Amino acid sequence: MAYQYDLFVIGAGSGGVRASRVAASKGYKVAVAEGSALGGTCVNIGCVPKKLFVYASEYGHGFGEAAGFGWKHDGIQFDWSVLRDNKTKEIERLNGIYGNMLGNAGVEVISGFASFVDAHTVMVNGKTYTAERILIAVGAKPFIPEFQGSDLVVSSNEMFYLDTLPSKALVVGGGYIAVEFAGILNGLGVDTSLAYRGDQLLRGFDEDVRAFASEEYNKSGIDVRLNTDVDRIELLDPKDPAGERMVHFKDGTSERFGLILYATGRVPNVGSLELDKAGVEFGKNGAVKIDKNFTTTASSVFALGDVTDNIQLTPVAIKEAMALIDYWFDGKEVDFDYDNIPTAVFSQPAIGTVGLSEQEAEARGIDFRVYQTDFRAMKHTLSGGTSRTLMKMLVNNADEKVIGAHMVGDYSGEIIQGLGIALKAGATKADFDATVGVHPTSAEEFVTFSAGALKERK
Ligand code: NDP
Repeated sequence: MAYQYDLFVIGAGSGGVRASRVAASKGYKVAVAEGSALGGTCVNIGCVPKKLFVYASEYGHGFGEAAGFGWKHDGIQFDWSVLRDNKTKEIERLNGIYGNMLGNAGVEVISGFASFVDAHTVMVNGKTYTAERILIAVGAKPFIPEFQGSDLVVSSNEMFYLDTLPSKALVVGGGYIAVEFAGILNGLGVDTSLAYRGDQLLRGFDEDVRAFASEEYNKSGIDVRLNTDVDRIELLDPKDPAGERMVHFKDGTSERFGLILYATGRVPNVGSLELDKAGVEFGKNGAVKIDKNFTTTASSVFALGDVTDNIQLTPVAIKEAMALIDYWFDGKEVDFDYDNIPTAVFSQPAIGTVGLSEQEAEARGIDFRVYQTDFRAMKHTLSGGTSRTLMKMLVNNADEKVIGAHMVGDYSGEIIQGLGIALKAGATKADFDATVGVHPTSAEEFVTFSAGALKERK
C-alpha cells in the first residue's frame, strides 16, 4: 500500500525532532505534528529555561560571596519580569531555529495534536495522514496527586511564566525538579521550604550524595523538611484566588505560602493519542510498551523518550532517535546501552553522577572499594561561604575499573561529563592515577585519590 509519508512523527520535542530531521535528510518523506511550541519540554519548559533560571539565581549567592573578594554590592535588586521575559525571548529564538532546522531538512511541520485512526493513520485538526511508520515522541507531563486544594498548586510548567515571584514558597517533592526549583527560588530571594514525604531527598542517588546535598541545600538557605507531607490546601481569603494559600500538613501544623510548586514526578503524555485504535499497549505507569527496537505492540508504530519507561533525559531521547534511524534505514538492530549515563542535577550546589552508587554496587554483589573526600572549595576561603564539595569514586576490586563517580559541588555537571567518557571507556583506577591533575581545581581530586581517602565501609 502507498502511504503519504515514510515517517510520521507525533511530537516535535528532543527525540521527535532528531528522528524526523535525520530521516528527512536521508531522503525520506517525513511529517511531524506538534500542538505546542517546537522543541518540546526541554526547550520550552524544561532543561533550557530551567538552566537560565539557575544562572540567574546563582547571582543571588554570588553578590554576597563577592564581598570577600573586594566587591561592594550596595543596592542590588532583582526584577523577575526581566528574567522571565528575556528567557521567553531566548526560547522563542530557539523555537525559530528548530523550525528552520526542520524546514531545511525537508520535514513538513503540521501544527496540531495528533491522534491515531489506525496503525498507519493519524488525524490532526480533522485531517488524516497515512504513513508507513509512525513514531510516538510526545514526552511526559507533570503529575500532581489529587487532594483537597490540589487545584491551588502549580507544576514546573507554570513556573516559567509566573506573573510575580512570591515572597514565600513551598516546593513539594524530592526529585530532580523539586531540588532544582527550590534552589532557583531560594537564590532569587524567595523564602523557600522544600517538603519531602520520605527520609531523604533524591531517591535512587548514592546515599552519601543524598545526605550531603540535603545538608548543603539547608546551608544555602532552603528549609528542607523531610518526612513532611501535605494534607490539604485552602485559600487564605476565598475571594482572592491569586492570594496566599494555607497549607495544612499531615503532622497537624499549618502555614501560609504565596506559591506551592508540586514537583511530584512526570507521567507519559498519552492522554489524547487514542493508542487503542492502533493496537498500541501501555506498560508500567501508563508508559508506551516497546521492545528493544523501540517497536510498540503495533509493528508500524514506534515510541521513544519520556513516553516510554526508559530514562527520562533529553540526551537519551536523542540517542534513541539516532539508534532508531539506523534500525529503520540501515537495518542495524538496536543495542542501546543504558549503563553509565552521566547525569547532573542543577541544584545549588549541583550534583554530577555516573555509574553505580555504593548501594547499587552492593546490591549487585560487586567486591569494590570507595574513595571519598569532602572539602571547602578554594573559592570559599575568601567568599566566607560555608559550602563544601563532596567527591566519591567506586573501584571494582576484581578488575580495578572505576564503576561509579559522584560529586556534589560547583561545576559537577561539567566535570561529570568528562568522567562519563572515562567510565564508558572502562578506565581503571590506575588510568585515573596516571592522569595529570588540572591545578587548582576541584576536579583534580578525582585523579589524586590515595589510600588515605579510602572510605571504611560497614
Ligand atoms: P522524580 O521522579 O525525580 O521525583 C518525584 C518526586 O516526587 C519524588 O521525590 C517522589 O517521592 C515525590 N512524589 C511522588 N508522588 C508524590 C506524592 N503523591 N506526594 C508527595 N510526593 C510525591 O520526578 P521529577 O518530576 O523531579 O522529574 C522527572 C524526571 O525528569 C526525572 O526523573 C529526570 O529523569 C528528569 N529530569 C532531569 C533533569 C536533569 O537532568 N537535570 C531535570 C529535571 C527532570 P518518592 O521518592 O518518595 O517516590
